[in-house]
Amino acid sequence: MGKYRVYETACPVWRLIVSLCVAVVVLSCSTGNKEYIRNTGRIFGTYYSVIYQQPEGVDLQEKMEERMREFDRSLSTFNRESVISRINRNDTTVRTDRYFESMYVVAERVSQCTDGAFDITVAPLVNAWGFGFGDGDRTKRPVTDTIMPYVGYRKIKLENHRLLKQDPRIMLDASAIAKGYSSDVMAALLEENGCRNYMVEIGGEVVCRGVNPKGEKWRIGINKPIDDETNLRNEIEKIVSITDAGMATSGNYRQFYYLNGKKYSHTIDPRTGTPVNHNLLSATVVAPTCMEADAFATAFMVLGKDKALELCEATPGMDCLLIYADDDGQSRVVYTDGFARYLLGEED
Ligand code: ADP
Ligand code: MG
Repeated sequence: MGKYRVYETACPVWRLIVSLCVAVVVLSCSTGNKEYIRNTGRIFGTYYSVIYQQPEGVDLQEKMEERMREFDRSLSTFNRESVISRINRNDTTVRTDRYFESMYVVAERVSQCTDGAFDITVAPLVNAWGFGFGDGDRTKRPVTDTIMPYVGYRKIKLENHRLLKQDPRIMLDASAIAKGYSSDVMAALLEENGCRNYMVEIGGEVVCRGVNPKGEKWRIGINKPIDDETNLRNEIEKIVSITDAGMATSGNYRQFYYLNGKKYSHTIDPRTGTPVNHNLLSATVVAPTCMEADAFATAFMVLGKDKALELCEATPGMDCLLIYADDDGQSRVVYTDGFARYLLGEED
């Protein structure tokens, strides 16, 4: 116990958020059906779109935006005063809130299930490779050996609303789980307000329930993983028909850079300290909550195609669709047996 302490050190340097990866596109939503309300906007440096049927026709956009701001004050590393930012700079007065704690419990479980492929203590590595909230230099390969001693989910724990660190240099990055979680939080707000038919999408992470304005399951497009830093190309690889589930996609086609002819992407293997580099291009996960789907989608990108498929098949209630490049560089799709039911025309 004694080795866990709360420390105080200098503040890291913050940077404005860049546009986050939008991995899926919602296809079927605006049909002009008066009973459904559609709200769209920007949040967390990305876009959101919510379609819902509210029994009294009440527009919930303001409430939703207030809830998202509250969420941002907990888990955004780009908000200097958020709980997570204060934890990162070892502010001894910070107490964890319900958003942080729910995120932490799921993050720890996903780390355990994936043998550390998913790990929120990856922040110093993400920063060193020039992807995070730090001021990493993309013009040379960082030395990661010196960073590894303070990376690892077993080096932190949550106790009495405090995050305890074995080393003061430990920092957290919830980017790979928070967007999915925020979609769950939005869905919970809709539920509180009587909605039973809705689809929430924040930065490509989706929660849907009930039926769409046509009275059918919700239809969501999974993007082709085409290298595109502009986030503007949205060619569809597969269409998914789904309801009562969370769905998230991680990919290496929107957040990357080249250094000396080699591609470095924003998914880092916390066990090696380097960006993953294998033939898996994107991972789409369906799970009971979008928070789990988001975290596992990132973990799958780290694990690679074969291990990801094996783990997903062995996990009840979860399915995935993976897009990878074959030996000839052609993109191929593979999915768990259970995923077939979501693919139009491929249900058994
Ligand atoms: P997207 O933004 O495309 O939805 P992810 O959900 O996979 O992508 O989140 C990627 C972000 O998560 C990275 O930019 C980085 O901040 C962080 N990250 C990178 N590698 C890991 C990892 N192994 N475990 C947890 N978080 C990670
Ligand atoms: Mg993720």
